[in-house]
Amino acid sequence: MPIKPPIYKLSCPLCGYSKLVEIKSDLLCSEDLQALSTTCPKCGETMQRVPLGLIEQLIIKLKP
Ligand SMILES: [Zn+2]
Repeated sequence: MPIKPPIYKLSCPLCGYSKLVEIKSDLLCSEDLQALSTTCPKCGETMQRVPLGLIEQLIIKLKP
């Protein structure tokens, strides 16, 4: 049985930028590595891993 990859959210404490990080497979491609980067694309600050909000959890559940 395949293990469902974890989904988490990265949030920038400086400018408020946030993104959902979802790893689609065990084999990381360059796109995944980019998604895993914790550097804020807006200001270069290190983003913090934060728990998903209710709305984000719903969005993920609704995704096919
Ligand atoms: Zn930022």
